[in-house]
Amino acid sequence: MPRSPDQIIRPEILALSAYHVPPASGMVKLDAMENPYSLPPELRNEIARLAADAPINRYPDARATTLKGALREALAIPDGMDIMLGNGSDEIIQIIALAFARPGAILMSVEPAFVMFRMIATFTGMDYAGVPLRADFSLDVDAMLAAIAKQQPAVIFIAYPNNPTGNLFDAGAVSRIIEAAPGVVVVDEAYHAFADASFMDKLVQYPNLLLMRTLSKLGLAGLRLGLLVGRPEWLSQLEKLRLPYNVGVVTQLIAERVLRYPGILLQQAEAIKAERTVISKRLMALDGIEVFPTNANFILFRVTQRYKAGEMFQELKKRGILIKSLDGSHPSLKNCLRVTVGTPAENAQFLEALQSSLKNPS
Ligand code: PMP
Repeated sequence: MPRSPDQIIRPEILALSAYHVPPASGMVKLDAMENPYSLPPELRNEIARLAADAPINRYPDARATTLKGALREALAIPDGMDIMLGNGSDEIIQIIALAFARPGAILMSVEPAFVMFRMIATFTGMDYAGVPLRADFSLDVDAMLAAIAKQQPAVIFIAYPNNPTGNLFDAGAVSRIIEAAPGVVVVDEAYHAFADASFMDKLVQYPNLLLMRTLSKLGLAGLRLGLLVGRPEWLSQLEKLRLPYNVGVVTQLIAERVLRYPGILLQQAEAIKAERTVISKRLMALDGIEVFPTNANFILFRVTQRYKAGEMFQELKKRGILIKSLDGSHPSLKNCLRVTVGTPAENAQFLEALQSSLKNPS
């Protein structure tokens, strides 16, 4: 008799829950940090033509030379730095972890952080160390420095701004962590388009710094394209772990074409930032809601009266609005929910549903 999965699969994988993606059909979808806007019709027509003529009988350009050139320009990547592309930045996190995974090697982040840091540590057999943020979700530098000294992490991931809290950590605090780290520090700037600061210009200064970006939050989540920027001595090693054709022909063509019009996505990001202010203010004005500061395209808030977060999530769902409840994911996120900024109409629907839930529970 062949052995069953639970006899042969690693216990830590058996213990995992798969990354949960809730069904969203027919809902106002404000749960996944997507850009709610589509591209202008002329650009969509260009994309349709590109897709029609794409040589999909051939493997993609494994080096993605044209796309990397476009990224280099659009993202102002410093001279001397290399780029590695991933099927979303999730894949890049995994490539990085694979490079460092050996028995006892530690992947460190803060808590709460993006869940994939911990999950990918588990996938790759690394040990995960999460250093708690302070109650206001700021970086606890002393705790972080102590943990670094004690645990000697091979790699530290810091999302800047952080997910799920939305705040931007103090740049000086992050720099101290980079300076103290015995291994590499990956600054994950997934939400860069909505933030006031970046570590891109620090790449030249810090030899152990890698910077990760994604096109997902900018408006191309469906394309799946993430990138890592860093020194050739790191990236040439990580490249060995990248599967040869991980970024498809159509993704390369479309991403390169959209990057020719950087103004479009930037304008959409500006609209999202403006709406973020509107929602935050409206939330702050509500009794029973505590709102946290954000530099991302989502807002973290806590329900303090009448409902628990899970109940509020259900109330909103009944009213056709899908957001994310973070209750139970970390003690500091008790009764917290996260809403992604949508279009003005979607945001108005969300706020109306929230207000009506607070007033008249169903
Ligand atoms: N990093 C952070 C901080 C994120 O929040 C996310 C998406 N939720 C990712 C990386 C992954 O994004 P993608 O794989 O779409 O590039």
